[in-house]
Amino acid sequence: MSENLHPLDIGLWCRVFPLAFEVARDHKLPLKEIRPTPAPEDMSKFGCCWPRLGVIHLVLRFKHPQTGEWMGPRPEANVWQTLAHELAHLEEERHSPRFYALLDTLLQDINDRRRV
Ligand SMILES: [Zn+2]
Repeated sequence: MSENLHPLDIGLWCRVFPLAFEVARDHKLPLKEIRPTPAPEDMSKFGCCWPRLGVIHLVLRFKHPQTGEWMGPRPEANVWQTLAHELAHLEEERHSPRFYALLDTLLQDINDRRRV
C-alpha cells in the first residue's frame, strides 16, 4: 500500500475508505474494494471503476509517469467528487441521465457525512 499512498494522504485515505463503504452500503452499491492509485494508465483519469468486480481505484495524487516522483496533492474536494463519480459507476456504467442523477444524490450524501 505504501508505494501507492503518499504519507501526507494517509489522513484523507482514512476518511475516504470507511465513508466509501458506508455510502455504498446505504445506496446498495456493490463495492468490494477501493484502493489509492498514483499511476492510472492515463493521467487524465482521476479514478477507475470495474462495476462487475466492485473495484474502485482512486487518485489522491499522481506519480510522475517518467520519473516516478510524487506530484502535489489533488484538492480534497476533487477527490471526494471522484469518489462519488466512481461509486455511481458501480450502478450505471455509462454517463447517462440516470448516472448523473445518482451522482448528485451521492455527492449530497457524501458532503452531508463529511460535515458531521
Ligand atoms: Zn465516468
